[in-house]
Amino acid sequence: MSPLHLAKTCELHVHPGGCLTAEDLIELGRDFYEDIDWTLFTDTYEKAYGIRPDPIALYRDAISNPTTGLTEFKEHYIYTEKDGGDFGRFKAKFNLITSLLKHPPKRQDLIIKMISSAQDRHRKEGITFVEYRCGCSDETRDTFINFHRTQAQILSNASQNNTTARYIISLRRLTAQQDYEWVQELIDETPELIPTIVGIDFADIEEGYPPKDNRALFQRVHKDNQECPERALEITYHVGESYFDKSLESAIRWCHEAAEMGVRRLGHAIALGLDPAVAIARRPDVHAKERVSERLDQIAYDLMHASELSAFDIKVNASALQTERQTLKNRAPDEIVERAYNPQRLEEIRNRQQFVLNRLTQLGTVIETCPTSNLRIGGVPDPAHHPIHTFLKSNVNLVIGADDPGIFDSPLASEIDWAITHTNWTTEALAKRLGDPRRFQLGSLRLS
Ligand SMILES: [Zn+2]
Repeated sequence: MSPLHLAKTCELHVHPGGCLTAEDLIELGRDFYEDIDWTLFTDTYEKAYGIRPDPIALYRDAISNPTTGLTEFKEHYIYTEKDGGDFGRFKAKFNLITSLLKHPPKRQDLIIKMISSAQDRHRKEGITFVEYRCGCSDETRDTFINFHRTQAQILSNASQNNTTARYIISLRRLTAQQDYEWVQELIDETPELIPTIVGIDFADIEEGYPPKDNRALFQRVHKDNQECPERALEITYHVGESYFDKSLESAIRWCHEAAEMGVRRLGHAIALGLDPAVAIARRPDVHAKERVSERLDQIAYDLMHASELSAFDIKVNASALQTERQTLKNRAPDEIVERAYNPQRLEEIRNRQQFVLNRLTQLGTVIETCPTSNLRIGGVPDPAHHPIHTFLKSNVNLVIGADDPGIFDSPLASEIDWAITHTNWTTEALAKRLGDPRRFQLGSLRLS
């Protein structure tokens, strides 16, 4: 048995929709693809790629001519490095799944088939522990509750013998408070699902949704957890994945703030491990500009953490920051400020990464790193600069996940093998560093 057997059989960062392969999608839609409203897919695809695809023709050709038709279908679905590290393009391809799943007459049937096929695939791969996280847009209370209940029920039924399948509900960032209420109502109505529903998640586009906006909600979650530990929900949070709208300091701060607010596992946190010189070379002038409000938040953070930062060789000039703050307060929060990078600033950003990784280690926060996902949609330019190298060298709790193994065509075992191929860690050393990821499963608060 491979020393990495434990890491290869436990998946902690995966979305069921993203588990669907091209073949799964064709199978799911083969009887009614002509009746589906594909507008969401065709519109976003056209916007991202400049070409308006014809999904009905793609289906027809893939079904009638599996060789050439399937290749064509895959070109419009499988997300590869050639698509560029662009979240909008990823969303466009993912909308093939979303459009299909939203087809009203078949919706219930499709939800069941989606989660079942994801679970089935993991079982065939020999994965014995999975936490699926799933969200859905444009929901009313009833469709939200039904969507998540249906999936949790299937996973609950699938959990037997040596297989455990759990469920984390991804809240929509815009309506997180309301979605959390609905999660609680779902659990009230279906208490038999408590062992399966172990957490809440925040996914999808993060730009525009600072962690600080969730401070009150997270306090509420922690309070609810203390009052009813038997149904406690832990928090997973995608952050520091796509952050072209802000400075590198702010992106690092977002990861730190989420951890301090009691998030158990951070999804990706590329900002904590991608070298700043590499990060700013990704696009012209990138990360030099951010909103006034973001800069003000950074100033407040630096002043608050001045002494801890100085222990990591980050100089905080309090009077200069206070002066800058006074000036910025006279400007509109949405205005843009620009601050150029220089070698000293880049060096301090590396130290900020170490400061936060060190703090995460103290807090016990886990980073979920997803190699292929980060290379294809996270804007990591190449394997040599993947944040995993920084994470492995630190003592931070670390797990490797596949994120969307179907749309990336890359199962969990390949993601673990990727780390062997692209880092200088031996199989034995990596196995020791990662250990058994099951120790980071959600539900730990329920043991007390
Ligand atoms: Zn994810």
